Parts: sequence; C-alpha cells; structure tokens
Amino acid sequence: MTVYNFCAGPAMLPVEVMQKAQKEFLNWNNTGCSVMELSHRSSEFIAVYENAVTALKRLMSIPDDYSVLFMHGGGRGQFAAVAQNLMTDSEAQYFETGSWSSAAYSEASKFGLCSNQKVSELNELKQRYVRPFEKWNVQDNAAYVHYCPNETVDGIEIFDDPEFSVPVVADMSSTILSRRIDVTKYDVIYAGAQKNIGPSGLSLVIIKNELLERSRESIPSILNYKLTAEKESMFNTPPTYAIYLAGLVFDWLLEKGGVEPQETLNVQKAELLYKAIDESSLYSNNVAPQNRSRMNIPFFLADESLNSVFLNEAKDNGLLALKGHRMIGGMRASLYNAMPIEGVVALVKFMKEFEQKHA
Ligand code: PMP
Repeated sequence: MTVYNFCAGPAMLPVEVMQKAQKEFLNWNNTGCSVMELSHRSSEFIAVYENAVTALKRLMSIPDDYSVLFMHGGGRGQFAAVAQNLMTDSEAQYFETGSWSSAAYSEASKFGLCSNQKVSELNELKQRYVRPFEKWNVQDNAAYVHYCPNETVDGIEIFDDPEFSVPVVADMSSTILSRRIDVTKYDVIYAGAQKNIGPSGLSLVIIKNELLERSRESIPSILNYKLTAEKESMFNTPPTYAIYLAGLVFDWLLEKGGVEPQETLNVQKAELLYKAIDESSLYSNNVAPQNRSRMNIPFFLADESLNSVFLNEAKDNGLLALKGHRMIGGMRASLYNAMPIEGVVALVKFMKEFEQKHA
C-alpha cells in the first residue's frame, strides 16, 4: 500500500531525495565516509554547503545584498534570534494572524520593546480573513514589522508581498519554496526546515546585509546573525547532515524546473482538496477563500464523534497524520512540495467514501 504522510512537520521529503541520501549514506562521493562524518571545515563539506546556498539563491532569486544563513534551533530559535538581533529603541511591531505569529510575539516580548496587533477577523460568513496590508497600523519608526505569511495551525496564508517602509521580517516556515515571492520586499525571511526544506532542527535565514549591522556583540553568539554571516554559518559545528539534505531538496526542486512549476502544482493540489471540502456536507473549512493556505488545510467534521473513526480508517488506507493541531482540533492535511498530487487524489477519494458510508 502506498503511504501518504500529511504531517505538518516533520513532513514528507521527496522520495527521490531520500533514495539519493540512502545510496550515498555510507560512502559519499567516494570518500568512504558518510557526509555526517565529514569535518565541517573539510573542502568536501564546504562544497556541500556552497551547493546548498547557491541552489537556494537560484530557486528564490536572492539578490547579492542578502546573506543566506543556516542556523540551529528551528523556527522557535528564530523567534528569539530575530528579537535579539533586530530590536532597537523603537518598538518592534508584531502582527497576529494565528498561533505562530502569536507565539513569535510572546517570545520577542521577553527581550525588548514590542507590540502586538491582531489583523485577522471574521467575515459575514464567519470565515477568518486577514486585513489587507494597507489596513495594518505600521509606525514609520518601527524597529521592524514581524508577521507569519502562512499560519501552519490555522491554515491562513497571506499571498501578497508586503510594501512597508520599515524592515519586514517574515516567518516563512511553512510556505517557503511553495510559491514565488519577491525577496526584495523582505528584510529577513526565516524558516524552520522541517516542511519544505529538510530535517527538523535546522533553520534557514535570508537576511538583507545592511540589517546585519544591528547584531550586538552582547547577544548569544549562537543566535548572532552578523557572526553567523561572517563565519559562513560555521561559527560552531553546523547541522551538517541537515544542510546536506536541504541541498538535495533544493537540487530536486531545480531539476523539476524550480519554484514556478511547483507553485502551479501546489495550486492544483490545494484546489482539489478545498473543492472536496466545499462540496461536502460533512466537512468544512472556516478560512475565507483569499487566505486559504495551500500548504496546511484544516477541516472539521460536522459530527465530531466521527473524528477518531475518520483517523483510524484513513490510516488503514495509508493516509497518515491527518489529526488537526491540538489547539483547534478537527483534521489538517499538509500538502508540502513533497506531497504528490496522487496523495491528494487518494485523500479526496477516501473522504468522499467516508462521507457516503457515515452519512
Ligand atoms: N513557525 C511556524 C510557522 C511553524 O509552523 C513552526 C512549527 N510548526 C514554528 C514556527 C516552530 O518551529 P520549530 O518547532 O522548528 O521551533
């Protein structure tokens, strides 16, 4: 039976990448060693690292005045890093659209001056939507604006690139590489790797070089953007195997034509599932169409007593990890880049059969 893993993260990685890693596991590039065993200072590993950075720059068209950093500590590590590196005497403005932007604010508020503004509300159909950027109350002297373009738990996505006169910091953990973005509209983009990049623990930071000057020496070195950039992500021993896997994922995406064709596919995948949800009387999703996430699709069964039956039967059909986040309940299907359209077709077929059986 083919198994499809709909987990929000750690999530499916492309099969081809896993197969390549498996093939190279014990003997990478005729070194007689696993990549995992190579010194991070060796020319072999530096080539792996440089390949990953170059591939990402190509995929996202990252301009030369930005640095790409590989760091430790996942998405939450960056909640602290952003605040510690970028806060100034002016307020940092956090914009809340769901649980991850809210968590980022809670962490940042330990470190300095910041405020939180809720920018989502319900429309007349009781669907949640995000107010357009023009309606966000951004101060001209804000230290930076922080927001989360894709709320992994709530399934809320903001597709526009922002236009603000102050530095913009975006937590792209669950949307990076799923669609084209204009990097120049952002000053810092960060992401935990365990969705569209690679294994958990690794975090990726894309930062405009002029902002590196904000990093003070007094902050923990391991979180320091300037130091990390100067040392090319090798201030301490980086998560080498995770960087290697991320590089393989980037190469895989490039071989498939890059982000643009992947975006087309992601649109098709998401439309298939939302259509099935909207056409059914058992399932529902409560996000307004313009903000419906393509990566994380929460849905609820009208009869909640069927939840565990749904999950058990889904599992029997090879459809794994559909349980919604504990904070909001229901179900959630994550459709990252590695999820083939066949997985979504199988899910939709199962959902229809389940509805007929239990109607
Ligand atoms: N931000 C977002 C948008 C996330 O989805 C997650 C994890 N799901 C995090 C931050 C936290 O990441 P981590 O668990 O790697 O700290």
